[in-house]
Amino acid sequence: MKKILVTGGAGYIGSHVVKALGEAGYTVCTYDNLSTGNRWAVLYGDLVEGDLADREKLRKTVTDFAPDAVMHFAAGIEVAESVSNPLKYYHNNTANALGLLEVLRQCGVGRFIFSSTAAVYGIPDTIPVNEEAHLLPINPYGASKMMTERFLSDLAFADPGFEYVALRYFNVAGADPQGRIGQAYKNPTHLITRALKTAKGEFDKLQVFGTDYPTEDGTCIRDYIHVDDLASAHLAALSYLLAGGASDVFNCGYGSGYSVKEVVDVASKVTGLEFRVEEAPRREGDPPALTADNCKIIESLDWTPRFNDLEYIVQTAWDWEQVVAQLETVRGRYLGRNGFSLNGFEVYF
Ligand code: UDP
Repeated sequence: MKKILVTGGAGYIGSHVVKALGEAGYTVCTYDNLSTGNRWAVLYGDLVEGDLADREKLRKTVTDFAPDAVMHFAAGIEVAESVSNPLKYYHNNTANALGLLEVLRQCGVGRFIFSSTAAVYGIPDTIPVNEEAHLLPINPYGASKMMTERFLSDLAFADPGFEYVALRYFNVAGADPQGRIGQAYKNPTHLITRALKTAKGEFDKLQVFGTDYPTEDGTCIRDYIHVDDLASAHLAALSYLLAGGASDVFNCGYGSGYSVKEVVDVASKVTGLEFRVEEAPRREGDPPALTADNCKIIESLDWTPRFNDLEYIVQTAWDWEQVVAQLETVRGRYLGRNGFSLNGFEVYF
């Protein structure tokens, strides 16, 4: 079976893709520095704990594993943090991607799947936005990903041995319905997780960032896609590349969106809990509305979305929050298929 190296495979999206790859029978190796990822989240294959900036470790991992393709997730993902700390984003998301590509080409790896983002579009003229739209990101996060897309397209043009797919993610949410993996950041900023953790009592209120946008209810609209649908889009892109497909870029979203207020309503309904919601000023770098034209991916790749249902998305995320809560209450933390932590020590067997 084909071998796939996954950078950032211990993170939220990467771990769901590792799960899908493992279930499909691929041989997987995760390369992750565990800065935001977790060892327990890697359900299949080996985990190499390493930083992308550590070229020697990266090169050794690539040489030893000899992957048929690489999927690159390791990156920062928070718009607000990218505004306040842009160099972190240009370093992690842009410079490290360039370093990875250099190592891969030196090692003869020529198939690459890149986690890009709808943030490359900035404020599109029309929504749903299609892949032909101009890329005019309005925050460093989007710019850091756009630059990597440019590296990829220039490299694919120049190098006949290199083909890639860039997947532009819209708003990824939800969790493994079996409760094995889900979002596990220490201080999550994304709307659905933030709303659910507020319902759980971890935060005293949920702030709605901006109620004066030019949308029906004044709050921002986003296209929320379940993480397992996003994972299956990666497998479809992989099959396409391994079958000789040419380099291309695809939106990953459902094609329609929900406002922040609508998401909050669904979170209240799913949890059955009242929580405090407060109107707050706009957050820097947020476009008013962003939804995907997904015709291209549906026509070109063998991908059928299965979970286009905001209630299901929020329900799986809520179920995951219950798993997290149960594990925290026994003082030890479950660390996946082969470990646990107790009183600060992580034990693997
Ligand atoms: N948002 C909000 N309160 C929060 C977190 C997010 O109002 O606590 C809004 C945010 O301003 C944006 C939308 O929810 O309009 C989605 O933000 P998120 O951070 O989830 O994803 P992004 O679109 O930035 O990738």
